[in-house]
Amino acid sequence: MKIAILGAGVAGLTAATLLSRAGRDITLYDQFIAPAPVGSGLVVQPVGLKVLREIGAADLALTYGAPGYRMEGFEVGRGRKILNVSYGPDGGANFGLGIHRASLFDTLLKTAQSHGVQIISSHCVTGTSFENGKRHVMFEAQPPSAPYDLVIDTLGAGSPLSPLRAKPLEYGAIWGTVDWPTSSVQKYDQLSQRYNRARNMIGILPIGTLPNDPIRKATIFWSLPVADYQTWRDAPLESWKADAVQLWPEMEPFLAQIDQHDDMTMARYSHGTLRKPYGDGIVHIGDAAHRASPQLGQGANMALLDAYALATCLDRFDLQPALAAYTKSRRLHVESYQMMSKLFTPMYQSNSQVLPFLRDWLLAPASFLPPMPSILRTLVRGSLVNPHRGLD
Ligand SMILES: Cc1cc2nc3c(=O)[nH]c(=O)nc-3n(C[C@H](O)[C@H](O)[C@H](O)COP(=O)(O)OP(=O)(O)OC[C@H]3O[C@@H](n4cnc5c(N)ncnc54)[C@H](O)[C@@H]3O)c2cc1C
Repeated sequence: MKIAILGAGVAGLTAATLLSRAGRDITLYDQFIAPAPVGSGLVVQPVGLKVLREIGAADLALTYGAPGYRMEGFEVGRGRKILNVSYGPDGGANFGLGIHRASLFDTLLKTAQSHGVQIISSHCVTGTSFENGKRHVMFEAQPPSAPYDLVIDTLGAGSPLSPLRAKPLEYGAIWGTVDWPTSSVQKYDQLSQRYNRARNMIGILPIGTLPNDPIRKATIFWSLPVADYQTWRDAPLESWKADAVQLWPEMEPFLAQIDQHDDMTMARYSHGTLRKPYGDGIVHIGDAAHRASPQLGQGANMALLDAYALATCLDRFDLQPALAAYTKSRRLHVESYQMMSKLFTPMYQSNSQVLPFLRDWLLAPASFLPPMPSILRTLVRGSLVNPHRGLD
């Protein structure tokens, strides 16, 4: 079986490693000229770490990343604790690994290369065609590919191949990466957040180190309506920093490292899931198949879990039954997290007055009472439901 994997991101590199390891004939394409992932930090949750362990990438990821044992958030008005989720005991086996995308990419790339995977770069995918039971890939300014039995679309949220029409969300966020200030009183083993109703969500995520840079980093983020981004860019940077420091004084040494608007990158979010993520000789995985805001920090994990499930099904079944089995094994997990993300996101990022009120006075107090802490722990670990139903 000849397989083309389109996109050398989280899902693509993981699928390439697993399929190469299983002796498959794969070709991996990406549009980049040289591998250079953009973006900031993210959290690889325990379910995602399990996949990294499975492909032999966990040790390197752990040398880069920063284990986080808790997520803590306070509202800025009265200083009430709103979020208090623990992964398990400090220093224990369960944690979310804060990591920069460049470090995760380096980890996945080196792992894939150790299995002989090579990336065909400078190939921007524009479409595919299906003829005589085979799929050809079309590229910008390049001849079409040879025929493939299977094309795996891992082109991410902007995939031109995916039929998914996700709903854009009103709020996005600006994200930046800074050195961890030596003067900071913030804890390095947790994600910390502050909320001003649902209008502002500010966060500090420890993410460990970058390839070739031993200084510990943090990702900082500030939620922002997409429509207000240009206004934010047009306003003096100092007035935004002053607003942020007024809401959360401990942000000052982090923000002091932001010198220009371009140091912060705007991320836009959307929500949506493909009900049937496959067709004749093609399957969509990762963000190409389902998109959500990063409120629950699950996107990269979903990409890792998808890749693992797909490779397992291709190992066990013929092609079309494998795609159906893959879809079935992932459906409940994907849909549960999509639903939770849809439910939680507006409580933290919206113009609603009612939702943050409910969050602060009803849900937050309830979340501290048993059995909620253990349910929330399972939720953030990524294992609220079995991520690979029927494959264990
Ligand atoms: C600001 C932000 C914060 C996030 N935080 C978290 C978090 O805390 N935890 C978490 O788990 N997830 C998080 N995510 C989500 C996570 O980054 C994504 O879900 C994950 O990267 C999806 O992986 P993927 O392999 O599907 O796509 P990607 O990793 O985006 O890879 C897509 C690849 O396809 C290539 N490509 C795209 N278009 C083409 C084309 N036309 N032709 C050829 N190549 C192409 C790209 O170059 C890229 O290499 C966050 C996302 C954002 C934006």
